[in-house]
Formats: sequence, C-alpha cells, structure tokens
Amino acid sequence: IAREAAKENEEPPQPVKGRRKSVAQPELIKNNKRMSCVVKPPEMQPKRGKFGEPTRPNQKFYEMIQEFRDTLEIAPISNTDVVESQKICVCVRKRPLNKQENNKKEIDVVSVPGKGALLVHEPKTKVDLTKYLENQSFQFDYSFDENATNDMVYKFTAKPLVKSIFEGGMATCFAYGQTGSGKTHTMGGDFSGKQQNSAKGIYALATQDVFIYLKHWRYTNLDLCVYASFFEIYNGKVYDLLNKKAKLRVLEDERQQVQVVGLEEIYVTSADDVIKLIQTGSACRTSGQTSANANSSRSHAILQIVLRRSDRNSTLHGKFSLVDLAGNERGTDVNSNDRCTLVETTEINRSLLALKECIRSLGKNSDHIPFRMSTLTKVLRDSFIGEKSRTCMIAMVSPSMASCEYTMNTLRYADRVKELNGKSKCNG
Ligand code: ADP
Ligand code: MG
Repeated sequence: IAREAAKENEEPPQPVKGRRKSVAQPELIKNNKRMSCVVKPPEMQPKRGKFGEPTRPNQKFYEMIQEFRDTLEIAPISNTDVVESQKICVCVRKRPLNKQENNKKEIDVVSVPGKGALLVHEPKTKVDLTKYLENQSFQFDYSFDENATNDMVYKFTAKPLVKSIFEGGMATCFAYGQTGSGKTHTMGGDFSGKQQNSAKGIYALATQDVFIYLKHWRYTNLDLCVYASFFEIYNGKVYDLLNKKAKLRVLEDERQQVQVVGLEEIYVTSADDVIKLIQTGSACRTSGQTSANANSSRSHAILQIVLRRSDRNSTLHGKFSLVDLAGNERGTDVNSNDRCTLVETTEINRSLLALKECIRSLGKNSDHIPFRMSTLTKVLRDSFIGEKSRTCMIAMVSPSMASCEYTMNTLRYADRVKELNGKSKCNG
C-alpha cells in the first residue's frame, strides 16, 4: 500500500478540465523536474542586468545605486553599541521592500551605512534624458536598516526613557512617517496575516520594562501603581479605544492643566494585562473601516502608561506616552473633492507641525510651548515641559523609488526636530 501511495505521489499533475489549456509542450509538463531544466528560447528569457538580475522598469537606476553602494562602508548598528541617554532622540528606520513591491520589481533607493547615517539615492533625469542620482545624506542619532528587529529599535529608542518615568519624568515616543512605512508594525507589533503580534511591539516591550522597574528596590518604597489608557485623535477629536470609541472632551483649567474628561485609565498588574488592552484597543481602532484609506492612517493613536502614588491619593508620578502618528503624506488628498478628506489632511498637517514646534521648544528649554496649536500637543502638554521630560522620535521610511518624495519629506521633518540636538544632551 505504501508503495502504491508513493507511486501516486509521483504522478504528474493532471491538467484540470475546463481550465484554460497550457501552452507548454505536453512532454514538458510530464515531469516537474525536467521542466525546471528547460531552457527557454532567447526571446522568452528575461534580460539580465549587470548584476545578473532580471531587468526592472528602472534597471539603469538600480545599477547606478548598486554601483554607489559598492563604494560604501556599511557597518549596521549592533546590539553591542552604546545606548546614549538624551533629552531628544531622533532616529530613522527603513522597512524592507514588501512582496508587492518585489513583484513589481521596485527598486530600493535607501541605504543605511550605519552610525546614524542614511542615504537616499534620488533618481533624476536631465532634460537630455541622461539619468543620474542625487545622493542625499542625513544624520540621526541612530539609523536602522531593513534587518533591524523591533527589539533592537526598542533598545536604542524607547527603552532608555522607561527609567525616566520612575524618576518622576514624562516621556514620549513617536512613530512618524507615511502610511505603510511601518509605524504600527514598530509600535503595536508585527502582523502575520491578520493577527497582530502585540507582544513584539514597542508598546509591549516598554510595558514589560515598566513592570521590571516597578519591582526594583530603588522604586518599591514609592508605592507606585500602573495604569494604562489608549485613545485616538481623529480630526482634532479624542476617542477612547478602551471604551468603544467614546468621544471625549479635552479641557484646560486655569493652571493650564489639560484633562481628557472621562478617559478610561485601567489599573494593570502585568505586561500581559496591557497586551490585552493593546489588542482590544487596536481592534477597536480599525473597526468600522471600509476603504483602503481607512482612517487608522489618519488618526494618532496614543498608549499611555501612567505611574501613580498609591499612598498619596493617586497623585501622578510619571507618564509614558507612546504615539503611533497619523500618516504624514500630504498633498495627495488635496485634489480630492471630498471636503472631509481635505479637512482631515489639514488637521493632520497642523498637528504634525505643532508637534515639531513643541519638541523644539522642549529642546530649547523654552517657557513658551505652542501646545494650543493642536489637540495632539494639548493632550501631551506635560511632556514638553520640565527638566525631566524626554522624547524620542522614530521616523519610518519606505525603501521604494515610488515613495522617494514622501521619504524625503519624512527625513526633512525629522531633521528639523533634531537640529537643536547638540544642546539637548544630558546625563542620566
Ligand atoms: P503604517 O502603520 O506606517 O501605515 P504598517 O506598520 O502597517 O505601516 O506597515 C505596513 C506593512 O509593512 C505591514 O504589512 C507591516 O507588517 C509591514 N512592515 C512594516 N515595517 C516592517 C519591518 N520592519 N519588517 C517587516 N515588515 C514590515
Ligand atoms: Mg498604521
């Protein structure tokens, strides 16, 4: 019987009746092995480029970039590199080309030589049609290439901030970039199919460390309790992701303290508790969306881990806000007749501009924080003031040539947030 079964397995696949007939010769389909050896006539073979690859729509640019890369000394960031503590940290992460992009033979125009450097090889064409590259170089605190894991990105970005909230500080970590560049993947965890692996995102990794610090002898006498809230800002309005998207009001009292009225703050005792909340909230965030431009890409999602003193009437001790920002692609929707989209775009631009200004004020230790410019900066007001406030921005970029302009916009924004970084280094 076993032999019979084995024989059956060897049988070549039978052509299915009713389907379109294969154009291949019958003897070629007979044996799969043989088929792979068949040499196609020259006119059917894909053209080979200089680097032995099948040609792509932008083969010339591809070759120019490969040639340029050959001259680069590449030393990607490694787990053994020193993590510096800074008041403002700005990093960049490049995601890998995805399946669709690979199928389309998209070319990768971003190089990450290491040590915080990043290059964009901008393909250009002269009037006489000569092709050339404009190589734009950027320098950040850290740069992560397509092989970096969330763990690695976390180690250099949000991890150093966890301690600061136990010292009574406010910390923020932002994921910035165009839709599809990897913000949610980095913050919320990677997706395999439809399932989000929340345990592998910065939200969860930071939470795990919060619970480790909570047990540290240095902080146990503070009697701290951990709470979590998760909300979304869409078109300047706040919606509670842990309470069926209930719409909440943002109020400012006479002492300029900003309150999100009625926001659920859930008492949590383990990282698993928070991971469950992240899953509930993320599902709530994406529910009720129909089009590809679903509004999760047009809203900011904010997870807050709050430390309160249980012995002192729950006074606030420290807070970590982890923000998955709305997609920064602008202009794309401006042509749309849909007024709603235009309002959305304007609102997103306004809040991202306000955010940049607030972080810059923090870096300058300025008294004037332009936090009233947007709801996002209003609810994060605490985070832009005080000696103990720390922030980290991770700018996400897509590697493809098609995204080149958005990538440049993202990098220019991140660069401006960082401009004053020289002054913002601090100890501890
Ligand atoms: P955004 O939130 O910025 O719109 P996503 O995080 O949803 O983008 O990422 C878009 C797609 O790319 C997702 O399918 C995600 O899993 C994938 N992706 C993003 N970053 C990476 C990465 N570093 N490695 C592998 N896949 C990634
Ligand atoms: Mg997203």
